[in-house]
Amino acid sequence: MLDPRKLPEGPALMIAGPGQLYDEDLEALGRQVIAHYGDVWVGVHNHVLESLGALLGATQLPYLIPGTGTTGLDAAVMNLFEAGQRVVVAKTGFFGTRLMEIARAHRLEVTEVEVEIGEPIDPSKIEEAASNANGILTVHVDTSTGVRHPIEEIAAVARRTGAIYMVDGIASVGGEMVDIDGWGIDALVTGTQKGLEAPPGLAIVALGEGGRARVEARSERPLSWYLDLKTWDRYRDEWGAWHPHPVTMPSPLILALASSLDRIAKKGLAAVVGERASLAESLRVGLRDLGLAAVPKEGFEANLVVAAYAPDPTSIQKHLLDQGIMISGGLEPLGGKTIRVGLMGKTATPEMVERVLQGIAEAVSQ
Ligand SMILES: *Cc1c(COP(=O)(O)O)cnc(C)c1O
Repeated sequence: MLDPRKLPEGPALMIAGPGQLYDEDLEALGRQVIAHYGDVWVGVHNHVLESLGALLGATQLPYLIPGTGTTGLDAAVMNLFEAGQRVVVAKTGFFGTRLMEIARAHRLEVTEVEVEIGEPIDPSKIEEAASNANGILTVHVDTSTGVRHPIEEIAAVARRTGAIYMVDGIASVGGEMVDIDGWGIDALVTGTQKGLEAPPGLAIVALGEGGRARVEARSERPLSWYLDLKTWDRYRDEWGAWHPHPVTMPSPLILALASSLDRIAKKGLAAVVGERASLAESLRVGLRDLGLAAVPKEGFEANLVVAAYAPDPTSIQKHLLDQGIMISGGLEPLGGKTIRVGLMGKTATPEMVERVLQGIAEAVSQ
């Protein structure tokens, strides 16, 4: 028999997601299951949605949907677009390519915009490709390269061309500033296990004004009941007082998320982002001193994942694992060429960064 209580203690995670939970969030997660309806639950649920809206700069209440981040990408694409429409997608790396796959799965025509590895998306190239397009899809931080892309500028392009702009913010929210209404983003999707420092298993879809208008203007409902945002709206409207969602919500996950969101709100998002940026900077400087050059061009480095070229990534990963620390290797298009260190959750501390740098120093001098 497999007894999950008796699994060996795993390594400290400094992978490109998920992060590990703070003790107080773990305590919230470990409470007995509570009912997903009634006064207490509605209070928790609505508080979490309001906190998420505030964090994202979204006046409209976001959707919290059980599933991973990708559930939210699927939901956003199928609610914003209709089969046969054309979308422009930036080929930023593994997750840019995934956005293309999702768009094609929903029978959209995809125009690819090339992006050099390490470089930010060039908004003028998006603008060229987007004339008469229905949508623009980009990743904010592509976890395969550790590059932060200029979504505020791309949102301005989208407003000029009239295309609906949807952002994959799964590896950015909580570690980067985002302002959906202020920047004119139509829809942004994130998950809970990266910058929000909560367990995996929940998708967040937030709409701006343009996204809302688009969802309302569709000619027919999307080919899903669960992921149709109007299904979620209907339960908010009709069952809001006691059960404001159509399905059983995973209350333990949401209690843990409530706990992590309160920690972020107490500190203030700008302070959290600032701390993470300086931690990422110290890691990049340390890696550079060891001869491991950052993948992103200067000025476009993400805060939650640091990617650097390494001569023998596997030996570095193995050396760190022997010391109880797990980092990530490269992901296409950089498979076998890079290491990636996640700065998410409980292990995102100067002490852990110091241990990682020490371990890498040993590995590369062997
Ligand atoms: C992790 C990640 C995803 C996938 O999220 P899941 O929660 O595994 O579905 C998608 N996009 C980006 C940018 C990511 O970092």
